[in-house]
Amino acid sequence: GDPAPRPASTRVMVVANQKGGVGKTTTAVNMAAALAQHGLRVLVIDLDPQGNASTALAIPHHRGVLSSYDVLVDGVPLAEAVQDHPDIPGLFVVPATIDLAGAEIELVAMDARETRLRTALAEHPLVGDADDRYDYVLVDCPPSLGLLTLNALVAGAEMLIPIQAEYYALEGLGQLLETVEMVRAHLNDRLVVSTILLTMFDARTNLAAGVSSEVRTHFGDQVLRTAIPRSVRVSEAPSYGQSVIAYDPGSPGALSYLEAAREVALRGAPGASTPSPAPSAA
Ligand code: ADP
Ligand code: MG
Repeated sequence: GDPAPRPASTRVMVVANQKGGVGKTTTAVNMAAALAQHGLRVLVIDLDPQGNASTALAIPHHRGVLSSYDVLVDGVPLAEAVQDHPDIPGLFVVPATIDLAGAEIELVAMDARETRLRTALAEHPLVGDADDRYDYVLVDCPPSLGLLTLNALVAGAEMLIPIQAEYYALEGLGQLLETVEMVRAHLNDRLVVSTILLTMFDARTNLAAGVSSEVRTHFGDQVLRTAIPRSVRVSEAPSYGQSVIAYDPGSPGALSYLEAAREVALRGAPGASTPSPAPSAA
């Protein structure tokens, strides 16, 4: 397809929702693959001790591999923990190892415990406006509002909240938005909820349509027009270590992630002027 416009500097998007199973990891992985497919350079940071994003992208993440744990707890430079994706040009991953499960506790006693990821990103030469910058950094968060997610919220300027289009979808969002307000007031005044994505959408049910209209009424333009359909191809892809875009390129799940990624790129960063078109797009 056509290349999507590059943002003027790296957009750091935090994929968060303290509910488990809403599609955070699926969204981080497939949005990243889709943005890369559109010609953009993307870094995924796996911040969930379960390492699902690392697994889904077939990135080695056994104990001993440099990971997000080493960056957060030991101050290892982020660049040292970055792995190139073996198959997807322009896609890079900082994996999570099981060590990260202890970080939530270890960080409590550390200096600057909320700002460690922000510092690591700020010190990375490809985060910013260099020519060969990452256009996007997507941070996959664990299903909690602890210090790992807090580090991501302090480090990022944008949040991408996946909402599962089913009953109770909005439950718990109040708590999430209160956390965002707390972070904005005390730790990171740039943080905005720029993007909401409806996931596991089943167009055949009234319930999904109801949840969708409720979310759109509540959040307006923050909600992407594209919703991600519930599809078995999306859930199968990770067991092959592939994005759905590689696994079944023509499937509705793949096409919807490609479309959602294009929307994100075309809207541009909040507050930025409309992104300039990619050089090759006439
Ligand atoms: P989270 O990271 O929020 O816990 P996941 O991304 O791991 O959520 O998704 C939870 C489960 O739902 C996984 O088994 C995943 O494969 C499945 N899933 C996610 N999105 C879809 C979809 N669009 N269609 C079908 N299954 C999906
Ligand atoms: Mg997850």
